[in-house]
Amino acid sequence: MRRRSDSVPEPPDLPAFRVEGEPRVDTQPEARHENTGLVRHDVALDDARIDTDAARVVRRLERNGFQAYLVGGCVRDLLLGGTPKDFDVATSARPEDVRAIFRNCRIIGRRFRLAHVLFGGGKVIEVATFRKNPQELVADDEDEAAEIIIRSDNVFGEAHEDAIRRDFTINALFYDLDRRQVLDWCGGMADILARSIRTIGEPSVRFREDPVRILRVVKFAARLDLGIHPDVYDAMVAHRDELAKAARPRVFEEILRLLRQGAAQRSMWLLWETGAMAVLMPELSAYLDDDEGTGGGVHRFFQRLRAVDERVKREGPLDDTVLWTALLLEPLLEVVRDVRDIAGEAHAFLDPFVRRLAMPRRIADGVKRIVAILPRLAQGRGGRFARTELAAQALAVLELDYVARGKDPAALSRLREAVAPVDNRPMRHRAALTPRG
Ligand code: ATP
Ligand code: MG
Repeated sequence: MRRRSDSVPEPPDLPAFRVEGEPRVDTQPEARHENTGLVRHDVALDDARIDTDAARVVRRLERNGFQAYLVGGCVRDLLLGGTPKDFDVATSARPEDVRAIFRNCRIIGRRFRLAHVLFGGGKVIEVATFRKNPQELVADDEDEAAEIIIRSDNVFGEAHEDAIRRDFTINALFYDLDRRQVLDWCGGMADILARSIRTIGEPSVRFREDPVRILRVVKFAARLDLGIHPDVYDAMVAHRDELAKAARPRVFEEILRLLRQGAAQRSMWLLWETGAMAVLMPELSAYLDDDEGTGGGVHRFFQRLRAVDERVKREGPLDDTVLWTALLLEPLLEVVRDVRDIAGEAHAFLDPFVRRLAMPRRIADGVKRIVAILPRLAQGRGGRFARTELAAQALAVLELDYVARGKDPAALSRLREAVAPVDNRPMRHRAALTPRG
């Protein structure tokens, strides 16, 4: 045995720590969720497709005695064989608990506080405490109901309550990583197998509660190639008018999501067919209704969206202004045909979109200016615009238009050389080169 050398310092004074209250260690995970109507499905999801950081977060929470599951879109996408966009975690831990466990963590949200655990490369794993459905509290009138929805956003709950507050059964599945089980309180697994979108509870109640869910059905059906349960479809049609009452920025954002994710063509077709488009974008919907009067415009409209989808799948995201121009180009071209004040007419056409959908002025102005320079660009004359961001966006629209008309976009190669590529980086990372006005 070696003698302790005098040169070795004394051990440091370690801070004492106390454990307050009852330890929350869950000693019997098998007994979790008793009498909640839970159905467990043994499903071994492919570990290689599960984000390692998300798995790390779940395991660390479990080691600290909390319940933690992968939830929502990621479980749905993995079960359907797709690649999840992001991984969300639901847990019995309160935001403060999560904060105490992870150093790389920040709490966000005013109404409902969530923890974001941060990893390298800007990756964020969202960790939300189980919460329950505000609708379980009974309100006497509408004002009180609205008040309850706002306040009870902060009501924490149990795992099964967190599942049933969600929108669709396929979005309410939890994955238990250690036991390799899908936890199902709403029949979501059957709907995954049937590839069918069904609301949790009465569709008409759920759409009245939050009409934006109508757009979410469209998004999931189009993007994931799922069927819509007939009762859900009927309720979408019956409650589409309520979209007019939804928060405008949320609706605007949801329409952008329909355009961005490689399923714009199917999304817009469904939106039109359900009549939701007539509520949100009546100008566009009326145009599509008049198939015969548009001289092939309706066909070009859907072909252009198809070109958008192909381009997004091939080359990644398209700029928001380009997406909106591609969406509205056909009726816009009709409006500005043979008029002198193209910008003025385009402005008048876009104004209702700004008012009804809270379309940002920046985007409305961009669409208007692209439409105005498109004819010149089509003749190969970029002129003094060539080096601006506007020209790059207009060129992207022109390329989509070529594809939609069955023309070869290779013909635009000279123009492409003259025009700077679109800068998709956030504004603060850009050099102040592009003139704006
Ligand atoms: P995506 O792949 O588009 O992100 P997602 O299902 O993850 O799809 P999010 O908008 O990220 O959708 O929402 C995460 C989860 O939150 C959903 O899976 C669903 O369970 C729940 N959720 C989202 N929006 C609503 C809503 N309006 N009403 C009820 N639950 C919702
Ligand atoms: Mg998501």
